Amino acid sequence: MYDTLIKGATLVDGLGGPAVTGDLAIAGGRIAAVGGRITGAARETLDAGGALATPAWVDIHTHYDGQVTWDGAMEPSASHGVGTVVMGNCGVGFAPVAPGDEVTLIELMEGVEDIPGTALHEGMPWGAWTSYPEYLDFLATREYALDVGSLMAHGPVRNHVMGERGRRNQAASADDLRAMAALVTEGVRAGALGFSTSRILGHRAVRGEPVPGTFAADDEVLALAGALKRAGRGVFQMIPSSTIGSAPQLGGERHSLLSEVELMARLSRESGRPLTFTLMQVDEWKDLWREVLERVAVLNRDGARLYPQVGVRPTAIVMSLDTYHSFMRRPSYLALRELPLARRLEQLRRPEVKAAILAESNVAHELPGKMENVVAFARANYPQTFALADIDDCEPLASRSFAALAAAAGQPEEAFLYDFLVGGEGRDFVVRFFTNYSEYNHDALHEMQMNDLTVSGLSDAGAHVSVIFDAVAPTFLLTHWVRDRQRGPRLPLERVVHRQTQRNAQLFGLHDRGSLEVGKRADVNVIDMARLSLGPLALHRDLPAGGARLLQPARGYVATYVNGVRTRHFDRDTGARPGRLVRSR
Ligand SMILES: [Zn+2]
Repeated sequence: MYDTLIKGATLVDGLGGPAVTGDLAIAGGRIAAVGGRITGAARETLDAGGALATPAWVDIHTHYDGQVTWDGAMEPSASHGVGTVVMGNCGVGFAPVAPGDEVTLIELMEGVEDIPGTALHEGMPWGAWTSYPEYLDFLATREYALDVGSLMAHGPVRNHVMGERGRRNQAASADDLRAMAALVTEGVRAGALGFSTSRILGHRAVRGEPVPGTFAADDEVLALAGALKRAGRGVFQMIPSSTIGSAPQLGGERHSLLSEVELMARLSRESGRPLTFTLMQVDEWKDLWREVLERVAVLNRDGARLYPQVGVRPTAIVMSLDTYHSFMRRPSYLALRELPLARRLEQLRRPEVKAAILAESNVAHELPGKMENVVAFARANYPQTFALADIDDCEPLASRSFAALAAAAGQPEEAFLYDFLVGGEGRDFVVRFFTNYSEYNHDALHEMQMNDLTVSGLSDAGAHVSVIFDAVAPTFLLTHWVRDRQRGPRLPLERVVHRQTQRNAQLFGLHDRGSLEVGKRADVNVIDMARLSLGPLALHRDLPAGGARLLQPARGYVATYVNGVRTRHFDRDTGARPGRLVRSR
C-alpha cells in the first residue's frame, strides 16, 4: 500500500534526463516507484493531468538563521516549491553566542541582511544555546514546512573567540586561529553543512563595522578551511572581496576578484573541500565574470573544487514609500515619516513639500550600516531604475528606465522618481538593479546558467526582507527562463530542474534527496506549468514585533511533498510540518 500515488505526471527526474510521462509512488517518506504506469493501492491518489513532477527545490543560499527559531512556515521559500534550505551564508549567524553577546549578533544580522533587529530581539529564544552544537540541538527540536541545513558563520565565531578585537577586524593570533578552527571542526562534526565568510566592504553591522572576518588574512581563512578538512566534510562558502565592485565610497576593496579566485582555489585544494562563491556581473567590470569562469576551469582541472554561484536575474533594491526610498533621509521627509501612509501622501503631494525635499541633502542615520542609509546614499542609478509593474520579466529595454522616461517627459530624474513614488496609492514599487544587467538583457545570466562549472543560488531568502525579493528565484527560473523569455534563448527545463535539485543537494552532501529515484526522500513538487505565475509583490507586517517584509506569492504549485507529507495543496499551506534540521553526515 502506497501513501501517495501521483498519476499521469510529466516526470523531470532532477538528474538531467529528458522529461517523460509516468506515475510516481510514495511510501514511508521515500519514493517507492517511479515511471510508467504504477498499479497498486494508495491511501491518496493525485491525478497530475500532465503537470510536472520534480524533486522539491534545494535552495543553497538563504538567511533563515533567526526565523527558524520562531517560525515553522518558512515563508517565502515554502510557497515556491523549496524542500530544503541552506542558511548561515555570508559569514553571519547566531551561534556560538556567549550570554550578553546577543545584541552584537543582532546588529550584525540587521546591518548585513536587513532583518529587523526588533524581530530578532523579540522573536528569538535567547539563552536557549551558547555553542554551535547547542544551537543545532535546539533547531532539532523544531518542526518546519521544509528541511533546514545550516552553515557555521565566520562573524559569530570570530566574535566569540576574539571579542572586541574580532569585531574590529584586527589580525588573529596563532591562539585565536587554533580556537576558531576547533570551534568550526566541532560545529561541522555536530552537523553544520560547512562554513561561510564574507569579504566585501558592503556587508556591515548597523554600527558600520564590516562583518568580522572581512579582512581575514590568508592564514586565518586557511586555518578555517583546515577545520573542514579535519571534520572530513562541509562546504566553504564565500563572498569574495570586490564581488559587487571596488566600493570606493567605503574606502575601496582590498583584493581584486581574480586574486580572490587564486586564494579560494588554495583553500579548496589544501582542505580537499568544495568551495562555492558568489559571482555576478557588475557594471564596473562587465566582462570580469567571464574571466573568472575561465580561470576556475583551469584551477578545477588542477584539483580545486570551485563552484561559482550565480543568480537568475538582476539583483535589485526595491523602493516604495512604505519600505525604503531615495528620499527617506531628507529632513522634510523625516518630519513626516511617522504619519500613516494616506496622510503622508497628502503632505508629500503638496508642491512646497516636494520642492523642499528635492532641494535638501540627506542626513545620515546615526547608525551608518542601517539600510535606510545604504539606500538613501547609494548612487542614484536612474539608467538602471524601473517601475516594477513595468517589468514582469525583469528584462526591460533601456527605454523603460527612469533615465529614459524622465528625459522623454522633460523632467529631472529625481523629480520623476518622486512623482512616481507619491503617485497611485503610494504603494507602487520601484526597482533599481545593481548587478547582472550591464547590457540591458539577460544574455550574461544565460551564459552563467549554461556554464557547467556554476551552481544556481543567491536567492537570499529570509534576508533583505524589505529590499530584495529574490526568494522567488526557483519559480522565476521556470516561468521566465524555461517558458516565457522573449528577448533571447531560454533554458532547458531538465537543466533548470537538475540545477536546483540534485546538483545543489550533491554539493552539500545531501545524497538522500534531489532526484526522483526509488529510495530517495519523497521531496516532490507537482507543478502546473500552464498556470505557474508570480502574484503581486506586497508588504506584510507579520514578523515578530510588527516587523515588515515583502512577499510575492506563487500560483501553480499543485502540491509539494516534504519527506512524503503534503505541505502545499494548490498554493495553500496544509499546516503539515514534516521538515527538520538536516545535519552533515
Ligand atoms: Zn547572503
